[in-house]
Amino acid sequence: MKVTLFSSKPYDEAFLKRLNPSFGHELVFIENRLNPQTAHFAYGSPAVCAFVNDVLDATTLEKLAHGGTRFIAMRCAGYNNVDLAAAQSLGLQVARVPAYSPFAVAEHAVALFLSLNRHVHKAYNRVRDGNFSIDGLIGHDVHGMTVGVIGTGSIGRIFARIMSGFGCEVLAYDVAPDPDCLQLGVRYVELHELFARSQAISLHCPLTPQTYHLINEQSLARMRDGVFLINTSRGALIDTEAVMAAIKSSKIGGLALDVYEEESALFFEDRSVGIIQDDVFMRLTTFPNVLVTGHQAFFTHEAMTNIAQTTLSNLADFVAGRACANRVICD
Ligand code: NAD
Repeated sequence: MKVTLFSSKPYDEAFLKRLNPSFGHELVFIENRLNPQTAHFAYGSPAVCAFVNDVLDATTLEKLAHGGTRFIAMRCAGYNNVDLAAAQSLGLQVARVPAYSPFAVAEHAVALFLSLNRHVHKAYNRVRDGNFSIDGLIGHDVHGMTVGVIGTGSIGRIFARIMSGFGCEVLAYDVAPDPDCLQLGVRYVELHELFARSQAISLHCPLTPQTYHLINEQSLARMRDGVFLINTSRGALIDTEAVMAAIKSSKIGGLALDVYEEESALFFEDRSVGIIQDDVFMRLTTFPNVLVTGHQAFFTHEAMTNIAQTTLSNLADFVAGRACANRVICD
């Protein structure tokens, strides 16, 4: 079966091509993002494979359906960029990779937190410049800290476990508490208590209408002074303007982001020779206590292998007419 893969990078191609011989799909790799302007590239493809910053709105989906597409394999966990209601009414099935390596993302969140707390990003540059002064690089012991985890699904649960291992008191908020976390001694509290007590807060809930701008002026006001905020989930969980004001007032002591509200115009491309037009993002990166990575939390060999394996297998289910266990259904 012909499958058109959008937003394709050399690393996607390498991992998918390595595993495809046992599936035998005809893979067509396209560098362009999927959106209403590029959907026609998939004309004649029964299946399309897309990624986090592709635009699968009603217009794109109508064009795909018109071109003969019946199956969309998201090669990621989140699917907030897919209009599921439109997909359903057009008879398009959508599948995803629910869990490829929760360790990859949880460990990256920990790496960001530790780097930020001990100023590793600044120390790296100082030492390269022959500046061995440690003035201004003081951190806090993570052991004994109170750490808040919002969303204790597959990633948040592992983040909580790692933080427990460091000797932290872990508070959590989730609409559905996780038995493993409870057994670990994680204490589920209401959001206001988590905000009020945590010295570091890591976001691991999905982006939904309920969680959009969960971190905003009001929630920031409830937090402890000097709080560390880590977001490896989705950019729009955070109101970036409100967070910038909180950095300026020292309410936030450190901000680590792997995702950003307007990342689709920036991330996954080399923009080092152009002029970045996003003033908010550029301002954000001037703060010494802000550390940003470009949506790379998932990017380990193990995760990429699992993404390729599950994506190819989801496509095989469609070819065989089997029910796909990873299908996403509209609520
Ligand atoms: P998951 O579905 O296993 O867990 C999400 C948890 O959030 C669940 O326990 C759910 O009950 C909880 N939740 C839902 N609504 C909530 C709310 N309103 N408030 C609090 N908790 C709520 O998902 P996961 O695999 O752990 O992934 C978490 C998020 O991480 C994904 O939604 C995705 O956006 C993001 N992610 C980022 C990367 C990256 O590379 N940066 C990679 C994979 C996933």
